[in-house]
Amino acid sequence: MDIDRLQGFDLSEYRRLLAVMVARYPCVGFEVLDSHSAFSKFAIVRHDIDMSPAQALALARIEANLGVRSTYTVLLSGEFYSPFERSTRELLREIGNFGHDIGLHFDAAWHGIENESDLCEAIKWEAGVLNRLLELPASRQVKMFSFHNTTPFTMSCKASHYAGLRNACAAYLQENVQYTSDSNGYWIHRSWQQLLDEQPDRVQVLTHPEWWSAADAHPAEKVCSHLASRGRSTWISYRTLLQKANRQNRTGLSVALSEFGELFPNDGDRLMMLWLEGYRSEAFLEAFCFFERQCRRLLRRYFRFEQRITGATVQAILSDYRLKLDPLFALSAFYEKSVGELLGFPLRTYRKIKRHRDRLVHGYDGVSRAELMISFELLIQAVGRLSERGSLLDNPSGIRMLPTKGTALCRDAESLLRWLEANHKRLDLSLQTIRQLGQRQRQLAIKVGGC
Ligand SMILES: [Zn+2]
Repeated sequence: MDIDRLQGFDLSEYRRLLAVMVARYPCVGFEVLDSHSAFSKFAIVRHDIDMSPAQALALARIEANLGVRSTYTVLLSGEFYSPFERSTRELLREIGNFGHDIGLHFDAAWHGIENESDLCEAIKWEAGVLNRLLELPASRQVKMFSFHNTTPFTMSCKASHYAGLRNACAAYLQENVQYTSDSNGYWIHRSWQQLLDEQPDRVQVLTHPEWWSAADAHPAEKVCSHLASRGRSTWISYRTLLQKANRQNRTGLSVALSEFGELFPNDGDRLMMLWLEGYRSEAFLEAFCFFERQCRRLLRRYFRFEQRITGATVQAILSDYRLKLDPLFALSAFYEKSVGELLGFPLRTYRKIKRHRDRLVHGYDGVSRAELMISFELLIQAVGRLSERGSLLDNPSGIRMLPTKGTALCRDAESLLRWLEANHKRLDLSLQTIRQLGQRQRQLAIKVGGC
């Protein structure tokens, strides 16, 4: 589908396009507005930071490596970041330390401005705030501005300077410099590559750093991912603050939440936030997947280090969806520990948790709020016990892989299949399914020429 096609907005493409441009043009700043005749051929690289100072820093680093000076404009009144936040302020200062120009990204609508005299006053005020905020030395102070979310009024402001600051939308630039912009995550006028192909003498490329990520994605995905990670880091600093101050973090749950976030820094916090935001069924189902992933991770570790069986073989057999292997039962068999010992609660409780999962997956009601909460807490507790940090599974014992017959299939895979057959009752598996899986594996092994 055309609509699903990504546009190539990632950091390696950014580096490529910039390198092509640097080879053809001297990169300059908005000082071209002070003396038009001094600059006949040039490129201006400008970044309006609407959402992501972190991505802006990533671009600043690439530019510094290529010896490019560009201009970053900072928004004081945006909703996606605040330059007053300590971490954001540091990012912006770091960008300036690379030698890039810092400008003002100005939202006239925020001030309700409709005439040029008020415009000058407000720009002067915001530029003063930004200079003080970033502690910019006299030689590096804000000397230019660009409009954020242009309006008919701001489009009519075409003078070279307002309040002594250079205007990125000045008439001179509009009339003499070829321009393109990645507003909203796609090229508005022409692509950067097309602009280079046209070979004009003077160019201005405007990017919004939030669109240029390590891996490309659709613009809305980038916005949501930015918002989620911003929310998560705010939550983490909140819970860390309480922890350091030895204060309670009252969540309504009885499990030590702070530890879970520490144990699994990204997933743990994401899961807890989902629950606390009120998405309880989703959080419970996610916790179940998380729990199963943790079991599978331990299984793979066991096979890799204890049995020298490759992860790919284990994946191909034990994770085959037709087998429906409960990885917890496999762990229990391999480590010769009961399910209760592994989980810290009885097998019948585990079966009840699985019934809750099945009911939710199939859209049935009947799992009460209290039951869901208990199941969620027990799962989180079990994941903690099965974590790498837990010492429960350090010493597997008594595992004897069975001797193999036949030569068509790898020894590893054959051995695994025979082990499954021998333990099918304990693993709650159908013997017929294991045999069918074995047949398929053998056919596959013959097809690809064995191991
Ligand atoms: Zn903007």
